[in-house]
Amino acid sequence: MSNKCNLIRDILPLYVEDMVSTDTREFVREHLGHCESCHAEFEHMRKPAGFIPDADIVPLKRIKKELFIKRLQTIFFTAILACSILAVAFGILTSPEFFPYSDKLFNVIDGSNGSIIITFDNKVTGYSCIKEFNKETDTEIYHINAWTTAWDGYSSNRGKQNMVIPFDGENKIQIFYAQNDGSEDVLIYGINENTNEDSVTLPRLILMPYFLLALLAFVILVILRLLLRNKQAIIVWIDRIILFPISYIAAHLCTKGINFTTYSLQRDFCIIMLVAMLFYFTMLTGKSLYKEKMGTSQKTDKYKR
Ligand SMILES: [Zn+2]
Repeated sequence: MSNKCNLIRDILPLYVEDMVSTDTREFVREHLGHCESCHAEFEHMRKPAGFIPDADIVPLKRIKKELFIKRLQTIFFTAILACSILAVAFGILTSPEFFPYSDKLFNVIDGSNGSIIITFDNKVTGYSCIKEFNKETDTEIYHINAWTTAWDGYSSNRGKQNMVIPFDGENKIQIFYAQNDGSEDVLIYGINENTNEDSVTLPRLILMPYFLLALLAFVILVILRLLLRNKQAIIVWIDRIILFPISYIAAHLCTKGINFTTYSLQRDFCIIMLVAMLFYFTMLTGKSLYKEKMGTSQKTDKYKR
């Protein structure tokens, strides 16, 4: 057997499966035309002894492509699952823990031009401020709060927080410290003219209706799925849509537990939506991977029989 024959024998399996380039195919065909032993080998490969042609057996090419797609899906699934876990951890670690009022928490100093400077204690790593304007008394009312997070507790990067409230030369200024634990806001600057009126900063409750809405959507979709269980085309869509409310509910429970109140609505809602989105794609990819796995094992069973 010549070197050329050896080469041809190496390529033959691919040639039989039609997985070679046009040039190679031409090269092999030309050789098979005049080399008897290679041609015999080719014939043998084309019709292996005892082989019963089965229309169900997918060509090698397709299997290869499917395997490639499956590998991509697995990588995507792993990556997005890791992102979901990281997002949940991030949400929990960066959730603000508000400080109750104490006179050591901050210093209020009059700055230049009538501005007010609030310097927070070292343990404060974040603050926020809500401004209102009372037209009747021409008063600018600020509600500030201060917090830290579990994340900030671990990291050493803790700068001193300062806040400057500018003075516009006309209005009176009142600053309250909002304790965000249901107790009264404390006046830390200015004179309170409505002394008989206690002001308490209340938590936002909007997360509760959102959660209930997701729950309701879930229940409706489950009922629809039961009613339309014979309509395969609709079921496919319901199965995709139903993952939305499931993701949202799971995201809420993972990041907030069974707590539905929030003093930082925007932040909490963004985190829940981010986690919900990641959960959604994790579940969608996981589901298709699972289905494929079941499909493959069914196919294998068929071949075994
Ligand atoms: Zn040959």
